[in-house]
Amino acid sequence: MSEPSCRRVWGQRPGQPNAEIKNITNREGNQIIMYEDRTLVCRDCGKEFIFSAGEQEFYAKNDFKNDPVRCPECRRARKNAARGQAPREMFDAVCASCGKPTKVPFQPRNDKPIYCSECFAQRRGR
Ligand SMILES: [Zn+2]
Ligand SMILES: [Zn+2]
Repeated sequence: MSEPSCRRVWGQRPGQPNAEIKNITNREGNQIIMYEDRTLVCRDCGKEFIFSAGEQEFYAKNDFKNDPVRCPECRRARKNAARGQAPREMFDAVCASCGKPTKVPFQPRNDKPIYCSECFAQRRGR
């Protein structure tokens, strides 16, 4: 038996790692992806922040395709803002008093008159 046990596959060049992620195979033959900390620039405040190896792994596991664009601080700020002021759905209505078009944060009902903010304030003040 003089045949070599391993055949070379043409067209595949070994020893060329991917740009940023190194693929390493451990003894069991499972592929391990090694991540390195990366420095990204926050889109909101322009500060540099670290996209850590751990975070990159988390992103990959959760199938997030895009890198984070904001630093953790800005991300937190945005989260808080979103929680504080959820976008309200506004409905078109016509003021029952002056006839001007207005918007109300609830579904207008026929049995209840809708007032624009001015008329509402007037009626309230009385
Ligand atoms: Zn930021
Ligand atoms: Zn009105």
